[in-house]
This record gives sequence, C-alpha cells and structure tokens, in this order.
Amino acid sequence: MARTGVKQHSWIGRVFLFDLLAGLRLTLGYMVSKTVTQHYPDYEKWVPYQRHRGHHFIKTNEDGEVNCVACELCSQICPCDCITVIPFENEKGDRRPKVFDIDLARCLYCGLCEDACPADAIKLGQEYEVSTTNRDTLVVHLEDLIAAPRKAENGGVVRPARLHRKGGLRSVLITDPDSRGQDWWTRIRRGK
Ligand code: SF4
Ligand code: SF4
Repeated sequence: MARTGVKQHSWIGRVFLFDLLAGLRLTLGYMVSKTVTQHYPDYEKWVPYQRHRGHHFIKTNEDGEVNCVACELCSQICPCDCITVIPFENEKGDRRPKVFDIDLARCLYCGLCEDACPADAIKLGQEYEVSTTNRDTLVVHLEDLIAAPRKAENGGVVRPARLHRKGGLRSVLITDPDSRGQDWWTRIRRGK
C-alpha cells in the first residue's frame, strides 16, 4: 500500500480515544481563556497567512513593465469567466495586455489563474477588504492590479492599523508594516 504520510494511530490510541480527549482539552482551554477583542477597523487589522488567496495583483519587472504577456491562459482557465484580457504589441514587439480586467464580484478566489500563468505575472495576495456598495467598483483594471498590495512578508498576525476614509470609500491601512505584529492564537491563549 502506498505511504500517504498521514500519521497512523495506534490501536491503544483508538481504544482510549486519546485524540478526542486532546481535542476536548484544547476546546476547554479556549473556553476558559480570557476574551480578546480585536480593535478592527479602528486600531488593528488581521493580516492573513501567506497562503491566503485574496485580492489579485500583477507583478512588474525592474523596468516597471508588467510581467504579463497577455497569453490569456488565465482567462481561459477561469471557471467564472471573470478575466478579460485584450493583447497588443508594444514598440519592442512584445505582447502585453492593453486591457486586463477582473470582475471581483464573480471571482471565487480559487487561484487557478495564478497556477496557469506561465509568466509569474498574476498573484493572489492577502488583501481581503473588497466590500463596496457599488458593484461597478468591483471590476478592477490593469492599473488597479499593478497598484494592489503585494504579499506581506509574514502573515497570521494582528498589526496596528487605522481606518482610512477617502470620499465614500473606507479602507483599513496598516500603520506599521514593519512590525512583527501579534500572533492571534497566542494572544487568545495568553489573554493579552
Ligand atoms: S481566482 Fe479563480 S475565479 Fe478568480 S479570477 Fe482567478 S481563476 Fe477566476
Ligand atoms: S496574467 Fe499570466 S496567464 Fe494571464 S494573460 Fe498574463 S501572462 Fe497570461
């Protein structure tokens, strides 16, 4: 039989339900730990783990040119048909996107576009604040994707932040991106 890498439990563990007891111990530990309030959105913001699939961004090279070669593979593989790519040829004869739109209202953040990209151009980042009262603003364009936040160097932490209002839009900005932040789960366990 193929080795799956999944830990096999001994018969004694199954008989005495050690896993169940370990799970109950953890649950009870959280039940009696102090309640911790995250001061979101006024003072703090949760930065998800790096594996989080959030708002897309498009990478650029050192000359500021987009990595995207407008091959349209991402739009072909997208199960929601929410990516529109229209290519053009620039003055150097390179194929680049003239239009690159993503309709975030339809996107299910599956990450297939990122997996299919042969140019390491499109990525899903850790940004998750995309709520709006105007559906039209959920169609993001090439310039939005170039300007969108990149992956944070770490994740799974709570960082200092502040609520930012601009016009009718609100967003929460991290005020100290270099801070290590606080590990959320440790914080709950310690009640700080
Ligand atoms: S994450 Fe999935 S649904 Fe969203 S644009 Fe990419 S392929 Fe389409
Ligand atoms: S983002 Fe990648 S897959 Fe999509 S058109 Fe550009 S190069 Fe092709």
